[in-house]
Amino acid sequence: MSARQRESVERTPASDSRMTFTEFMRRFPTNDACLDYLKEKHFPNGTPCPKCAKPSRFHRIKGRSAYSCQYCAHHVYPTAGTIFHKSTTSLQLWFWAIYLISSSKCGISAKQLGREVGVTYKTAHRMLKQIRTLLAEDIGPLSGDVELDETFVGGKPRASHTRGITRSELAKHSLAKKTIVFAAAERNGRVRASVVPRRDKVNLIAKSREFVLPESMIFTDEWPPYEQVAPYFKGHRRVKHKQRIYVQADAGTQNLESFFALFKNSVRGAHHNVSAKYLQNYLDEYTYRWNRRKDDRSIFWSILDRVERDRLAAT
Ligand SMILES: [Zn+2]
Repeated sequence: MSARQRESVERTPASDSRMTFTEFMRRFPTNDACLDYLKEKHFPNGTPCPKCAKPSRFHRIKGRSAYSCQYCAHHVYPTAGTIFHKSTTSLQLWFWAIYLISSSKCGISAKQLGREVGVTYKTAHRMLKQIRTLLAEDIGPLSGDVELDETFVGGKPRASHTRGITRSELAKHSLAKKTIVFAAAERNGRVRASVVPRRDKVNLIAKSREFVLPESMIFTDEWPPYEQVAPYFKGHRRVKHKQRIYVQADAGTQNLESFFALFKNSVRGAHHNVSAKYLQNYLDEYTYRWNRRKDDRSIFWSILDRVERDRLAAT
């Protein structure tokens, strides 16, 4: 491809919802551009000043990350109440991290992020964790036909821990180290997912009732505790996995099966292993992506919207 051809390459329609790196750099070339963006979102012209209450224009104060009211010179800080506040990492690096997270298909590891953005592993880890807190959302209870299922994630024991133990001991050991994830999925719709300590009736009833409206029809496999979950819902249909009848008319749990399969793949691919402690945080990110898979709005802008939403919630 010649240089001229390269320059004239047009974006395909499929990538419209994703921001290119060039677009990112054009929009946010400096820290100031990022700060101005936050200011425009939170203190657009005509916003009543928090002090004198007059609809004001806020002007940038040179050398500070603050803006000043045109009437009373009261200072406002666009990063106050956001994940960027009091961070020693520059605002542009934060925006870049959000860009990288939103443009990767199945997430990014702290190691990768650190390398790309040029911060230590520890800083990258903290940034990822904080950005993921923005992705946790309460989408409200699911309804209609809803699949319920659980799965075991992670926890491969190290070779040094398993030397000389029998296969059945190993099975017990590796199962004990795995984390249980429970999820509910509307047919072709939204998913909610949570780490649960055990897949017993107490936990399954509690999470099902939290995630799903009572007037829904639930679809599960033959795990016995679901018999106790069923009375809380309009109806219950089971798939007989043991008999290999996966799709008994419309009673399958295949939506969740593909959700779990992709989730595990992405944990393995981008993260190698996620400790139980951070799995919920990562699950929130993954669910967020999944629930937006048919959404045209770029995840990058959605995450920045969240910065604003969480600030409003905090004040
Ligand atoms: Zn004022």
